[in-house]
Amino acid sequence: MSIGQNPNTVKHIVIVGGGFAGLNCARKLAANPNVRITLLDKNNYQQFQPLLYQVATAILAPDNIAFNLRAALRAHPNVDVKMTEVVSIDLNTRTVENVDGQQYQGDFLVVAAGSQANFFGTPGADKNSYPLYSLHDAERLRSRILAMLESADRDPSLVTKGALNFVIVGAGPTGTEIAGAFGDMLQAALKKKIRDRSYKDLAVDGGQILLVDGGHAVLIAFSSKAQTYAAKMLEERGVKLHLGTRVKEVGSGHVVLSDGTRIPTHTVIWAGGLKAASLSDNLGIKTGQGGRIDVQADLTVPGLTGVYALGDFANILGKDGKPLPQLGSVAEQSGKCCAKNILLDIAGKPRESFHYLDKGIMAMIGRNSAVAEVGEHRHELQGAIAFAAWLGVHAALLISTRAKIAAFVEWAWDYFGGARGDAILDRSEELQINWNDDRK
Ligand SMILES: Cc1cc2nc3c(=O)[nH]c(=O)nc-3n(C[C@H](O)[C@H](O)[C@H](O)COP(=O)(O)OP(=O)(O)OC[C@H]3O[C@@H](n4cnc5c(N)ncnc54)[C@H](O)[C@@H]3O)c2cc1C
Repeated sequence: MSIGQNPNTVKHIVIVGGGFAGLNCARKLAANPNVRITLLDKNNYQQFQPLLYQVATAILAPDNIAFNLRAALRAHPNVDVKMTEVVSIDLNTRTVENVDGQQYQGDFLVVAAGSQANFFGTPGADKNSYPLYSLHDAERLRSRILAMLESADRDPSLVTKGALNFVIVGAGPTGTEIAGAFGDMLQAALKKKIRDRSYKDLAVDGGQILLVDGGHAVLIAFSSKAQTYAAKMLEERGVKLHLGTRVKEVGSGHVVLSDGTRIPTHTVIWAGGLKAASLSDNLGIKTGQGGRIDVQADLTVPGLTGVYALGDFANILGKDGKPLPQLGSVAEQSGKCCAKNILLDIAGKPRESFHYLDKGIMAMIGRNSAVAEVGEHRHELQGAIAFAAWLGVHAALLISTRAKIAAFVEWAWDYFGGARGDAILDRSEELQINWNDDRK
C-alpha cells in the first residue's frame, strides 16, 4: 500500500504479463490512487518483439529493445513488480500461483501472457529450429548465425554441409523481415571480405537464404502490389522463395520440404505461426483458436467476475466479427481499454466495448525497402519512403526517449556502412555443432 491510499477502498489488480498489453494496462490504472497493482512477469523487462530480428541480425543490441519494468513504472508507487513465472491460475477466485507455490489474489485479474511459437506438430521443429519470440531467442539466433560464419571461414568444406544455408519458415512479416535482413547481412559480409580482407576464406556465394511458405505469396495480409514488390526486393537480396511448399521435417542438420527437397542446414528459423503462451494450458477453461481466451466485447472473460484477457493471449473480435490479428497495436489498445473498464467497474458504471483503431500494417524488407499500408483505408507506401516511415513508427513506439535516440544512432551507423557482422559471439553453446550428425 503506498502513501495516501485508503486500505478500505483500494482495489487490488493482479496483472500477468508485462508486455504491450499488461504494461499499458498497468500504466493507465496506476494513475488512479484507488488501486494497487501487482504486475507479474517471468522477465524483469518488457521486450519489443517487432525489433527482435534486428538483434538476431546484429543491427541492434539487446538493450536497445528491452526495457526494465520497474524503471518503466517507477513514477507509480502503487505498482509492485514481481519477477516470477506464473504456472497456474484459478480464474474463479482470481488467484495465480507461481513456480514456487506463492499465490497472488486480486479483486481483478488481467491475463496478458502473450504468444509462443506454434510448430503445428512438424517433426523435429521444436527441437531443431530457432523461434523468434523473446530476447533469449534473438540472442541465441545471433550467436548461431555468427557461429556459422566463423565455422565456414575456418573450414570452407563446411559450406557443403549447409553451414551457410539459412532456412526461414513462414513468409509473413516476421519471416520476410528476417529474410531481408539476412540478405543484407550476407551482402555486408561479402563487402567486408573484399574491402577489409576480413572473413578471408568465407565462401559467401556458396550460401543460400531460403524462405519457405505453404501459401503462394509473401506477406499474405498485404495487397498484391506490395507482395510483388516484397518478393522482388527479397530476390534482389539473394533470398530464394519456396512458396506453395511446407516444411515437413526439421533435423539437426537438414530440412525436408513437402515437395521432397532435402536441404542441408544448421539454422532453421521458425516464423511459421504462433499460439497462446504455455500458461494457456493451465487455466481450467476451454480456450478458443490458437489456445487463446475468447473474450467479450468489453475484454472480460465470459462467466467469470473481474477477469480480463488481453493482447496476444486473447481472441478479441474486430468489427467484422473475426478475431483481430496478434499485433502490438491491438495489445496496447486493449491494455488501455481494460484499465478504463476496471475503473468503470470500480465506479459502478457500465463497461465500454473495445474498438480497435486500425493504424495500418508495415513490413521492412531491408535497406531502403519496406511496404506500408497506412490507416483503415490502407494507403500504400513502398520503397525508401516506407522504409523511413517504418523507422519512425518503430522508434516512436520505443518506451523512452533514450531508447529512441539509441535506436536511431544504431540504425544510422548500420545504414552508413557501420559494423554489422562485427558482433560478438557470446553464446558459445551455439558453436557446438556436430557436422556429421545428419547421415540418412
Ligand atoms: C518477431 C516478431 C515481430 C513482430 N512485429 C510486429 C510489428 O511489426 N508490428 C506489430 O504491431 N506487432 C508485431 N509483432 C506482434 C507484437 O509484438 C505482439 O502482438 C505483442 O507483443 C503482444 O503483446 P502482449 O502484451 O499481448 O504480449 P507480449 O508482448 O508477448 O508480452 C507477454 C508478457 O508475458 C510474460 N509471460 C508469459 N508467460 C508468463 C508466465 N507464465 N508468467 C509470467 N509472465 C509471463 C512474457 O515474459 C511477456 O513479457 C511481432 C511479434 C514478433 C514475435
